Amino acid sequence: MLSRCGGHGSQSAYPANRKVSGLFLSPAALILLLLSACRLPKINIMLKFATLTARHLFVQKRERTMSNTRLAPASKLPALGTTIFTRMSTLAQQHNAINLSQGFPDFDGPDYLKQRLAYHVNAGANQYAPMTGVTALRQAIASKTGRLYDYLPDPEQEITVTAGATEAIYAAITALVRDGDEVICFDPSYDSYAPAIALAGGTVRRLPLQPPAFRVDWSAFSALLSSRTRLVILNTPHNPSATVWQTEDFAALWQAIAAQETYVLSDEVYEHICFAPGGHISLLTHPQLRERAVVVSSFGKTYHMTGWKVGYSIAPTAISAEIRKIHQYLTFAVNTPAQLALADMLEAEPQHYLTLPDFYRARRDHFIRALSASRFHLLPCQGSYFLLADYSALSDLDDVAFCEWLTTDVGVAAIPLSVFCSGAFPHKLIRLCFAKQQATLDAAAERLCQL
Ligand code: PMP
Ligand code: GLN
Repeated sequence: MLSRCGGHGSQSAYPANRKVSGLFLSPAALILLLLSACRLPKINIMLKFATLTARHLFVQKRERTMSNTRLAPASKLPALGTTIFTRMSTLAQQHNAINLSQGFPDFDGPDYLKQRLAYHVNAGANQYAPMTGVTALRQAIASKTGRLYDYLPDPEQEITVTAGATEAIYAAITALVRDGDEVICFDPSYDSYAPAIALAGGTVRRLPLQPPAFRVDWSAFSALLSSRTRLVILNTPHNPSATVWQTEDFAALWQAIAAQETYVLSDEVYEHICFAPGGHISLLTHPQLRERAVVVSSFGKTYHMTGWKVGYSIAPTAISAEIRKIHQYLTFAVNTPAQLALADMLEAEPQHYLTLPDFYRARRDHFIRALSASRFHLLPCQGSYFLLADYSALSDLDDVAFCEWLTTDVGVAAIPLSVFCSGAFPHKLIRLCFAKQQATLDAAAERLCQL
């Protein structure tokens, strides 16, 4: 490996035999020098000699410069900076603000899960897991899926355990999107989709959804659809709008794409945090769509352990085979004891995910009550652990500036909605995470009610 960084400055970027001292001349220049010294008085030879010597000195100089210079590659994602979640969490930390920005709970996951992790570590389950995920976890995912969505995926062929939903999303996009393909996303949309599409050579075609309902206009969707639409990405329950897809939405999507080779990626990481009357409707309940879809979920949300980074994809065999080709060279396999502990947890305590809507509904309602005296206008929340608040009665600032001010001056960190959209987003909306202890929510609400 060649190193050209200043930190490794003593290591040359070039092989030793190409390192020439300024005193030496190139072989071609030497021959020409000898010829001219033998009194072959050809003027063009003298000229060639001068040219070669000059070129040689130029190459030497460039090599010296290159070996001393830090190289900066032209970016494949020039418009991207650090994610808004990292930026706002850092700002919250710097200003000691209550952090309702990045989506993570400030409480711990179930004791049983932690005990099972310790058990498997101590029992020596510390080597590579199978590439597709440990058998017990894939079987537990299959039977949970069968019970909840009336569709039993094949754990051998159709379920792949990944390093969080982020990896499943990246692998699915990389597997499906080719150079020149188009991908339809609904704005606002989660931030990891677009960079993966760009790296795969695809183009994002965004369909803006309007608050407060954020519903898909299916005629606008059909207008966006083309023969180049390779993939549609949806997310239900939705981050950040907290809306959910209905059976009619899936039916409309199927009607729109049935006649062409368009795949679907359904991001369902908040599947167990749904407050809608009928509960979460998975794409897997749609018999035709699931034949061409990748459904992604994450244990981070379900078990309050976002740091464990274990997720999975469910897709038909042929699609899963392509996803696995990416996964095996992206991470190869996922943390073994964590997978075994999650398999135990899924089997032993299904009431955890079955009661999760009640658990989060109580927090959501508590936070809404606590904010009722504020001047924020709160939007409906049907799923996820995010609440949208309209601050137009409070400030004229744009949402990014408002969130920065809220963090630094008020001491509550939130996420501006415009960062989830590519076009203009003229609304004054911020996202507040209510996956927090009651005391945290009360303290934040007290500050927000003073505005
Ligand atoms: N999709 C959505 C909509 C999310 O909100 C998140 C994380 N909050 C992810 C994917 C990524 O999940 P994970 O942390 O398991 O990678
Ligand atoms: N998905 C989390 C959120 O929406 C953040 C994950 C991250 O920081 N990348 O807040």
